[in-house]
Amino acid sequence: MSNEDKDINLSFEFFPPKTEQGQEKLKAVRTQLNKLNPDFFSVTYGAGGSTRDNTKGVIKAMREEGLPAAPHLSFGGDHEETMYEMVDGYKSIGVDRIVALRGDMPSGMGAAMQMVYANELVAFIREKFGNHFHLSVAAYPEIHPEARSYREDVRYLKGKFDAGANSAITQYFYNPDAYFYFLEECGKEGIDAPIIPGIMPITNYQNLARFSDACGAEIPRWIRKRLDDFSGNNESLTSFATDLVTELCETLLENGAPGLHFYTMNQIEPTRSIVLNLGLSE
Ligand code: FAD
Repeated sequence: MSNEDKDINLSFEFFPPKTEQGQEKLKAVRTQLNKLNPDFFSVTYGAGGSTRDNTKGVIKAMREEGLPAAPHLSFGGDHEETMYEMVDGYKSIGVDRIVALRGDMPSGMGAAMQMVYANELVAFIREKFGNHFHLSVAAYPEIHPEARSYREDVRYLKGKFDAGANSAITQYFYNPDAYFYFLEECGKEGIDAPIIPGIMPITNYQNLARFSDACGAEIPRWIRKRLDDFSGNNESLTSFATDLVTELCETLLENGAPGLHFYTMNQIEPTRSIVLNLGLSE
């Protein structure tokens, strides 16, 4: 059964490569992943706008290839005029979806930069461009690391929907209960828009563990321990991790998740295998 039959929203995320070699590789990756018939591809935006031109470049290249491409965007240190021009530029090349974020402070900036919350970016795009764009925002089933409380974080998510967001994509997680509990709490706050789980396939455990600590995503102890068992045996680790993430996705879809958003890390595998294992594509 394809994802169209099941009406499951499928999307793949890339980061903008810095080198020409990386650009070429990404082109091959998206050509392969496009065969899985995703609803869209998204491209991240470096903290504080640090990858502005690279992100724009990848989005432009994908539009020229006829692919549905959604840039991630945050104000960073930009003024409204720059932001308007950027969004208008995207509109002019046929982009109709944006992932609207506050973003993180670029490292080394201290507290020098005034961060613009994502709800303000959503409101800005709605005010200037009406309903042209589908706006996705970020959500955190295990709660944003800076949030003062669970309830407050859910309320701020509600604020992003009140400002005009259409859907949310979550930070990755490996405990499905955290996602379903979060959905319940969002429902109590009056959020009824789709909240798509973000899925991080596991390839490099050391990097993932370091990154997870920083972004507030939890790798359950039993998974850490199992992954430790495979240290030095990449093939077994990949096989175990692919099955593990496939099972996570199955649980999510069986219990009503409206789609899956894969953090591909610019790799075809294991995202492709997981999507095929799930029967979302042929
Ligand atoms: P916000 O929703 O603005 O929230 C930030 C924090 O402030 C939260 O703790 C929240 O509780 C609080 N808050 C929210 N609104 C208000 C308000 N109005 N007043 C006071 N407090 C408030 N980062 C990048 O740099 N580039 C990317 O491309 C990128 N893509 C991402 C994609 C996804 C799907 C996800 C889940 C995250 C992504 N991130 C990216 C990381 C994200 O930028 C960071 O987690 C960032 O710290 C928060 O961004 P946000 O849009 O969730 O912020």
